[in-house]
Amino acid sequence: MSIKGVIERYRGYLPVSEKTPVVTLCEGNTALIRAKVLEDKLKVDAEIFLKYEGQNPTGSFKDRGMTMAVSKAKEDGIEAVMCASTGNTSASASAYAVRAGMKSFVVIPEGNIALGKLAQALIHGACVIAIKGNFDKALSLVKEITDEYPVALVNSLNPFRIEGQKTGAFEICDDLGEAPGLHFIPVGNAGNITAYWKGYKEYKEAGKITNLPRMMGFQAAGAAPIVERRIIERPETIATAIRIGNPASWKKAEAARDESGGVIDKVTDEEIIEAYKILAGEVGVFVEPASAASVAGLIKLSKAGYFEEEGLKGKRKKIVCVLTGHGLKDPERAIKCVSSPEAVEAKKENILKLMGY
Ligand SMILES: *Cc1c(COP(=O)(O)O)cnc(C)c1O
Repeated sequence: MSIKGVIERYRGYLPVSEKTPVVTLCEGNTALIRAKVLEDKLKVDAEIFLKYEGQNPTGSFKDRGMTMAVSKAKEDGIEAVMCASTGNTSASASAYAVRAGMKSFVVIPEGNIALGKLAQALIHGACVIAIKGNFDKALSLVKEITDEYPVALVNSLNPFRIEGQKTGAFEICDDLGEAPGLHFIPVGNAGNITAYWKGYKEYKEAGKITNLPRMMGFQAAGAAPIVERRIIERPETIATAIRIGNPASWKKAEAARDESGGVIDKVTDEEIIEAYKILAGEVGVFVEPASAASVAGLIKLSKAGYFEEEGLKGKRKKIVCVLTGHGLKDPERAIKCVSSPEAVEAKKENILKLMGY
């Protein structure tokens, strides 16, 4: 049997009908990887799992939402999609637009897009518009334009994006046979934390699970509007996918935190890079910097003694960290974090010396 995309797999939970043309690249079905190395390293009495969303067709979780958003736009007879993007939304929108035979327009903040993501949008033939301004500005312009012209907005303000993304929670529960106790996730525009929480709640209502996780969201310290309870005019972080100062789903993220008894906290760029290197160098999973924010949060809380809290007894048994996007999206960051090799004379003894023999 060939792999199905998330719409076919979870049709009964999604607002689609027989009339919906399913635009898919076989997204979803990503691995839930047990990370025993982290369990030992952090001395956390729990099973830690990594939901590796870099395995999606365009390399990030955005594909789960995009299959829904583009299918519904096509159902409505719309011929073009548009988004503001820190990179992954544009990569995904442009690929699914090709699949649907639609045009795509993407507005990006000048100079702040990881190389891999920009390459994707361009090679998929999107009309890429760079502005002198940040993501928040790009999004407000895109909202205005899509209100006035027959172009579908495919940012996570589009409710179909959230619907598609909630399938990540379904997959986790299907794999574990229950919901995890704690769900760690990076927070940027806050659509994904909103989507996962919705997914867990719906699975509980459907009787598929009996428990709900605490939602543990992490923003980058230089872009932490929810934590600091104010709009950040000039968000700064190396984790460009979460470099957002005024999240579209701000209120819903707070609701997810409060209803689940979770937290939304922040991690510094140093903590993000530390987690990024641990994931690549000790777990064997290469993610982009923003994705490492979930694991950076887990490390931060374990150091702070969070897992020793009495009330967490049942909750801490299974922990899931969502790794939102693939490391190859941002190769420049990886190269900057490690020392690159210098060429030596092509002699066996030189090579053996470098090998440590
Ligand atoms: C979009 C994105 C995020 C942030 O998700 P939100 O839904 O905006 O909170 C985090 N990591 C990666 C890799 C992303 O592409």
